[in-house]
Amino acid sequence: MLRVTKQALIASAAQRWLETYAYGGRWPDTTSIFEPQKIYMALQALPADAPETQITAITGRADWTQNICDECGQDRAVTIGLGQEIHHAIDTKYICLPCLAQAVTLAKQPSQPWARRHPWRQLSPLAARDGGAPRAELSQAV
Ligand SMILES: [Zn+2]
Repeated sequence: MLRVTKQALIASAAQRWLETYAYGGRWPDTTSIFEPQKIYMALQALPADAPETQITAITGRADWTQNICDECGQDRAVTIGLGQEIHHAIDTKYICLPCLAQAVTLAKQPSQPWARRHPWRQLSPLAARDGGAPRAELSQAV
C-alpha cells in the first residue's frame, strides 16, 4: 500500500516533469507550442507548498496535481494506493479515505448484496466461508 497526498504531488511536480520529459537527461526539442525545459524551470522555482493552481497554469494541465479516487472519482487530499505491482504500476487503484471507510462498513455487513448480482462470486471458497449463497440458490440465479 502507498499513501499519496496532494501536497506530495505538488511538491514533486518539478521532479516528475523532469523524469517524464528529460529522456536520459536530455530535453526534447522545443517547439513553438511546447517548451518542456522552460516549464521545468518554472516548476522548480515554485515553493513546495505552492498553490495547485500555479502548477496547472504552468503545465497547462490539472492532472499533475490531481489525486483522483478510483472509486468515487473525486480529487482528494489523500488516497491510498492498493494492489501495487512493480511491473504493472497502472493497475494500482487509489482509493480515498471516505471510500475506504465505506468499504469497511460494507465488509462488516452480514449480508452480501453483490452476491446476487455476480453469481460467479458465490463459487469462491471465501464467499462460501463468509456466508455466500448456497449452491442451490446459485443454480437458480444462473
Ligand atoms: Zn473515493
